[in-house]
Amino acid sequence: MVRPIKNVVRQLPRRHKITISGISLFLLLLVLWPSERATASRNLANAELLELGRPYPLSLNLQDEIIENSVQQNYEWISYEVRSGDNLARIFSSLGFSAQQLYRITQVEHEDILRRIHPGDTLQFATTEDKEIIELRYELNETESVVIRHGESGNYESYSESKEIESRLEFAHATISSSFWNAGVEAGLTQSQIMNLADLFGWDIDFALDIREGDRFSVLFEQNYIDGRFVGNGKIVAAEFINQNETFRAVLHENGNYYTPEGKNMRKSFLRAPVHFTRVSSSFNPRRLHPVTGRVSPHRGIDYAAATGTPVMAAGDGRVVESGYNNLNGNYIFVQHGERYVTKYLHLSRRHVSRGERIRQGQIIGRVGATGRVTGAHLHYEFLVDGVHRNPRTVELPQAESLPQDMLPSFTGFAEQQMVRLQNRQRVYLALNQN
Ligand SMILES: [Zn+2]
Repeated sequence: MVRPIKNVVRQLPRRHKITISGISLFLLLLVLWPSERATASRNLANAELLELGRPYPLSLNLQDEIIENSVQQNYEWISYEVRSGDNLARIFSSLGFSAQQLYRITQVEHEDILRRIHPGDTLQFATTEDKEIIELRYELNETESVVIRHGESGNYESYSESKEIESRLEFAHATISSSFWNAGVEAGLTQSQIMNLADLFGWDIDFALDIREGDRFSVLFEQNYIDGRFVGNGKIVAAEFINQNETFRAVLHENGNYYTPEGKNMRKSFLRAPVHFTRVSSSFNPRRLHPVTGRVSPHRGIDYAAATGTPVMAAGDGRVVESGYNNLNGNYIFVQHGERYVTKYLHLSRRHVSRGERIRQGQIIGRVGATGRVTGAHLHYEFLVDGVHRNPRTVELPQAESLPQDMLPSFTGFAEQQMVRLQNRQRVYLALNQN
């Protein structure tokens, strides 16, 4: 990595400093200007960003802009996209730069970075009229660039330049009418955000079978910007999901895990459903008919209708105690988890594990099928506690580790603030979307 960074701001001409003050003043006026609703909500967002200051800095990265401008005004910029088979010598000659310039530029510290250019990378040259290179910029990624600049000494000097990623908080809310997926899309969430939301609450809610019309969710998530340009979504920082009138809440801890506002881990020792919800045929019918007898029977398990071949995941860490075939169950796998828990997976088309094998939570142990006494492809899943069948969708599941006691006070305080933010945004959202 390139380390030496010269503080360019310090050397700024006075003119620029005045410009900065001017911009700041303008922005301040913009923020304080009391006008329509749209501005009001933006004020709210800004106020919120500033409120805690620390985690979501509202920063204007003036430094980079100024470097570019100061050079841009006086020199011509050439942008070159690296093609396959290119090397520096070829690029320099094709752009009409002399071999001598190439030599001088490659005398800088960390010149080796320039040897690692890949097809698709962009090199930017600032040149004088007589083709003297004043500056060469190479973007390593969204935030980091290497800059080689003609210095006062007459030699080239290299710098690394990094742009700050600014995280802004965004809010989304939806009430489910057709499906969770559709509601997520309507709320403006991306596919991966919808997945993340389901993963987050998937320990408590069976997204395949338990979602009902009227369920709703609110999400606060980060959006990342560089130089005011949107570059992608960040993490969900807080969320609330109301499923069949039961409320679930999750807050991101700085350790990267999600906890309830009380500090309990969102993760459980068991997955709520061993098949991914996106693969399960929608079913809003709680009174399931037995697939063979056609009557409503006291079913001892849960059926997930899914296409043959759909991956079946182990609900928890454990050891395979049965992996076999019979006429009733078809291909089946039984897994023992610790002393008290057993999970069973029936009618599989394929089994990927054998008896005695240790398996991990989420590991794909087999595939949905239609083997045994069934009419169509589905996974029959059973959950036993101390040898007794329990409903895997409602049984109280052991939790993964909660937050240590000493971290609890600071987290609960933070979590409360996050939930207040979420509620505030929700109130504003609902007020603006009444009709
Ligand atoms: Zn069944």
